[in-house]
Amino acid sequence: MRLPRIWITLVGCLTLVLTAACSVIAPIQSYINSTSTAPQPSILASPSPGGGITPISEPSATPTEIPPTPGETPLPITVAAPQATPLPSPLPPIPCPPDRCTYPGSLFLTRPIAPPGNDSLDVTYRFGSTQSGMRDPHHGVEFLNGFGTPVLAAADGTVVVAGTDLDPTSPRGAWPITFYGPYMNFYGNLVVIEHTVPEALFQAFPDMPRPLYTLYGHLSEIDVQVGQQVTAGEQIGKVGQAGIATGSHLHFEVRLGENTYQASRNPELYLSPHLDANGQPMGAVAGRFLDSFQNFLELDSIVLQHLPQGPDGPSDFQVTVLTYEEKGLIGQPPWLESFAVGDLPAGWYRITFPMGGLRQDLLQVLPGQVTMMTFR
Ligand SMILES: [Zn+2]
Repeated sequence: MRLPRIWITLVGCLTLVLTAACSVIAPIQSYINSTSTAPQPSILASPSPGGGITPISEPSATPTEIPPTPGETPLPITVAAPQATPLPSPLPPIPCPPDRCTYPGSLFLTRPIAPPGNDSLDVTYRFGSTQSGMRDPHHGVEFLNGFGTPVLAAADGTVVVAGTDLDPTSPRGAWPITFYGPYMNFYGNLVVIEHTVPEALFQAFPDMPRPLYTLYGHLSEIDVQVGQQVTAGEQIGKVGQAGIATGSHLHFEVRLGENTYQASRNPELYLSPHLDANGQPMGAVAGRFLDSFQNFLELDSIVLQHLPQGPDGPSDFQVTVLTYEEKGLIGQPPWLESFAVGDLPAGWYRITFPMGGLRQDLLQVLPGQVTMMTFR
């Protein structure tokens, strides 16, 4: 059968129209598909001003999800758009980089001396220092103050020692049954208070030894009794020179897990920081140096230079420390550090140290937080 000429013409026209229509629709559909997927949130941090170091703004204790980047404004499309794909939510937490991390919640102890007393620690005899070989490796810090200056509890807690460590041979059950320093009568009159570890610190370090003790040594007067509950800032005694002391001062110590000389930790990682010139809390730095076998390296010069104008600006002051001079103090939980410095104004620092040649790096101190660095 032959179709009339008019039908052939109509079918031919219809084919042409459909082909033309499809050639218009196909790119539109392709464009819709390419734009209908919402942009993925970026988890990459922007480059830091210092180049190699990423400023750490979120603590590992409470990692915060990075909010999704705002979606781009869709281009106007005149055909019906398909349903938008929902954003993936929530994002997994961002892990703290293992070799540089900041921690809130650690600097919780109030100063055991209040103004007008001297509430700054003696930087010539920091924790772990021998004061250039002149003294025992320090298991605490010193607050140099006059005889009779009030000594205050550093946190709420329970008094577990209030007396002298003069006689370690007393029968068990009578006080004292042990001494608290490296040898007898080291601290003279002392008070030890037991505290609960703050939740934020415990969350950051679930395996850290507990409880936490604070020790106050060389007292001239003791104002509390064993078993007494005290609150932060409450007077517990007075500064003196009892025991082995070269002048009137408070020896302040932090101990973790057990109330022994070997369990002491660096108080600079626990004492609440002073405020800087702008009224902002200062921060602290802790660090360690590991060789390729994960052994701790002992360094005799670690220089921290404050860079108030940022990583490329000049320094206005520097602090020089060394790793703890007693091996037993190095690498103890929770921080596993070999040096620490507190009361550093927040901002950028350059750290310089001898490790296979002189090395330099940059780090950032955050207000009220501890910045922990590992160098390999
Ligand atoms: Zn001391």
